[in-house]
Amino acid sequence: MVEEIGGHRYVPWRYVQRWRCLRCGRCCVEYLVPLYPQEAVYYLLRYGDVVEFRRGKYYLKSRPDGSCIFLEKTALGYRCSIYFERPLVCRCYPFYITEEPLEQVGSPEDALYLLRLGEKVKRVYVYIDLNCPGVGQGYLVRDLVHKVVLEWYTKLSALRSRGGTPLIPL
Ligand code: SF4
Ligand code: SF4
Repeated sequence: MVEEIGGHRYVPWRYVQRWRCLRCGRCCVEYLVPLYPQEAVYYLLRYGDVVEFRRGKYYLKSRPDGSCIFLEKTALGYRCSIYFERPLVCRCYPFYITEEPLEQVGSPEDALYLLRLGEKVKRVYVYIDLNCPGVGQGYLVRDLVHKVVLEWYTKLSALRSRGGTPLIPL
């Protein structure tokens, strides 16, 4: 089952065979970019008035055409002007990783991924947004999923370890 959440059409990662980024820029134009509070503080301190607060959550500001405030159009195509310190959600897209399964989006078993960290095993749920035009092309998702989840876990752990006063980017 495909579920629309915030404009995204998520399915469990096991439903998608291949993906690669086509650098179309769509994900930086069509969606709000949610931020962890630590990210919001960091971007405010570093870039000024680039964060907004809506219904209890932080987001990057967007321009009137919907594009992210950090998206630049160059002769070669779209470019993220904060690429090396972009938000966690941008690093993972079109993958969406969560510690609890999304309700009504396929079966949790199809979204489950067991991240092995030495002796420890972390259970996470991984979804992919079918709105991304790169879905269905390129690399095998089963070969990518570990790298994406490990990056998500590493960056999220770093964010959480900073508590409420992050002063350095991810
Ligand atoms: S929408 Fe998909 S293909 Fe396009 S830039 Fe974003 S991740 Fe890449
Ligand atoms: S921060 Fe960068 S990657 Fe994320 S939406 Fe904005 S331009 Fe795109």
